[in-house]
Amino acid sequence: MARVGVFVCSCGANIADFIDVDAVVHETKKIREVELAVNYRYFCSAPGQSLIRDAITAHRLTSIVVAACSPRMHETTFQKAALEAGMNPYLVEIANIREHSSWVHQNDKTKATLKACDLIRMAVAKSTANEKLHEITVPVSDRALVIGGGIAGIQAALDIANARHPVVLVERQSSIGGRMAQLDETFPTLDCSQCILTPKMVEVARNPYIELIPYAEVVELNGFVGNFKVKIKKKPSYVDFSTCTGCGACTQKCPVKVKNEFNLGHDTRKAIYSPFPQAVPSKPVIDPDACLMITKGKCGLCSKVCEKGSIKYDMKEEIVEREIGAVVVATGYDLFDARSYEEYGVGRYKDVITSLEFERMVSASGPTNGVPIRPSDGEIPKSVVFIKCVGSRDESKGYPYCSKICCMYTAKHAMLLHHKVPDSQSFIFYMDIRAAGKGYEEFVKRVQTETGVVYLRGRVGKIYKRGKKLIVRGEDSQIGQAVEVEADLVVLATAIKSFHDSVDLARILGISYDQHGFFSEAHPKLRPVETSKAGIYLAGCSQAPKDIPETVAQASACAAKVCGLLAADVLKKDPLIAKIVRENCSGCRNCIKLCPYQAISTEEIPDGHNSKITRVIAKINEGLCQGCGACVSGCRSTAINLCGATDRQIVNQVNSI
Ligand code: FAD
Ligand code: SF4
Ligand code: SF4
Ligand code: SF4
Repeated sequence: MARVGVFVCSCGANIADFIDVDAVVHETKKIREVELAVNYRYFCSAPGQSLIRDAITAHRLTSIVVAACSPRMHETTFQKAALEAGMNPYLVEIANIREHSSWVHQNDKTKATLKACDLIRMAVAKSTANEKLHEITVPVSDRALVIGGGIAGIQAALDIANARHPVVLVERQSSIGGRMAQLDETFPTLDCSQCILTPKMVEVARNPYIELIPYAEVVELNGFVGNFKVKIKKKPSYVDFSTCTGCGACTQKCPVKVKNEFNLGHDTRKAIYSPFPQAVPSKPVIDPDACLMITKGKCGLCSKVCEKGSIKYDMKEEIVEREIGAVVVATGYDLFDARSYEEYGVGRYKDVITSLEFERMVSASGPTNGVPIRPSDGEIPKSVVFIKCVGSRDESKGYPYCSKICCMYTAKHAMLLHHKVPDSQSFIFYMDIRAAGKGYEEFVKRVQTETGVVYLRGRVGKIYKRGKKLIVRGEDSQIGQAVEVEADLVVLATAIKSFHDSVDLARILGISYDQHGFFSEAHPKLRPVETSKAGIYLAGCSQAPKDIPETVAQASACAAKVCGLLAADVLKKDPLIAKIVRENCSGCRNCIKLCPYQAISTEEIPDGHNSKITRVIAKINEGLCQGCGACVSGCRSTAINLCGATDRQIVNQVNSI
């Protein structure tokens, strides 16, 4: 005979103010299987848990129901309390009378109380059919995969490797470094980006625990937490990295010049090239669209000068596979293409550029050796207008969110311009100044005081040409007037957007993304670096726009999570998964098609007593099954049960109301 204990929590005033808990206890006591029903102010508190433990032993309870908040909040707390009292934790049921009753029916205490009684009655009925279940253990592969070699991926890979777990770092470009490699000095301290980044890049190359796979992409991920199998496509670089010394003789000889993407087309590169001098790995790749040998079968100069014989024009793409336990996604961001702002003349006026172009110009390693110029005539600009929120916070362009970093880097740009061209004048059109961060507000103040930059609060309506100058027409809401500023150069702080193919990667990895294509975290406050798929974590701008300090902190947080996971030889998993009722299974394979996690295969078993005749039935992979229940509802033979939500448990619940 079932002996169920029911613990009705007041949750302070959260439940007790909107539900008559005494009446609920009184009603609950009338249920035949209920041995004990009590109310307490906070069952999640230490004394509350102690009450539960004592009641389980004193009343020899066979299952318990805690009528309280959502199971997402405290189910494990109550399961642990039960376990400490010698009860199997899966004999605990939660009746969510807070989120499902007191919070949503605050205006009708009578009905909220009745609903709480119903929820408890259902939970009691279910609990009488609960079975003792035990955690599942699955082996863990001691290797992490980091996708993306920007500062986020670099930091995560180094932290994991320094804890002596092997890491595979996959980067799409021929070098790691990401956007940070393109930056000059960084706010708020104005330290040189390359100087703080390149030592970390070199550390990646030297770390024996890191396998760096550049010029490559993840094309397939199978398996489950602790046991993923990844397929990585290595693009042909046409250079054998294992023998190439990075001497650069090939690049020097190459006769072909094309636009250099790293400098956003403001200078040229060769057809065989390294993206920037401090690239890691320091090996060139051949651009197959530009190379004369690959496109026309002529030239071959690089091969002739390469003493190591490293040039391989017939190199093909290659797929490599690795077994891994956890994944960090650090694929960064793209920038909004401002050409849709026709009123700003983007693409029409050479002297309207983006902030990243300005960043390359003021960089000592940039196309103009650190000197800001007007692209139209090469002259040094004396009057520069910076426009913030170009795309960002603009619903009409589809980017209603704040890009978070533009306020700060635009202030930085005013400072850099002042350093490079002391007799220049900066104007910044802005909506707000968002400078929340350690030392950020102080930095903006410093820029204002030291450079004399003029901040104009308002949107820019139009940019047009007058002679050699650009006229920027906007409004200054502080004085309530339209203003016109004559500029030599206009710099647009374009919105940070998700990486252009982030949705494709999300599909490959089986993780979710928001309406803007940024990957979604499992919980915005409590699980900010985890995805909802166990074993996959997020770092840097792939999750949302952020600056370098925040990116690095998030990457280290990911690494801590990964190290925690990989430290164990086996992984414990909730047993609330699908189970085949072998005698009922007809082997129709319907469930295999329905399972979104590819967790079902088949096995051959002896048919009845005759061991010579066999039949095929479905088989669940315990590691892969996420307990979603899709297969259960699709099985016509009722041959699958979901542990924790069996047919009997559900029927009991339905009958009880
Ligand atoms: P990224 O730097 O974008 O790196 C992502 C990497 O992943 C890239 O190497 C990319 O090639 C790779 N990748 C993408 N997809 C794949 C794939 N499918 N497979 C493999 N690899 C992939 N921040 C500051 O704190 N201070 C500053 O002064 C500052 N100035 C800035 C100025 C400008 C103009 C801009 C635009 C940004 C500035 N930032 C600054 C912000 C800074 O750039 C970011 O915080 C930082 O780059 C985020 O790093 P990340 O690793 O997340 O992304
Ligand atoms: Fe350049 Fe191609 Fe000629 Fe090599 S073969 S030197 S990469 S054009
Ligand atoms: Fe068919 Fe059900 Fe067996 Fe799957 S479990 S093979 S759906 S009978
Ligand atoms: Fe697949 Fe979901 Fe069934 Fe598990 S419960 S086998 S994940 S369909």
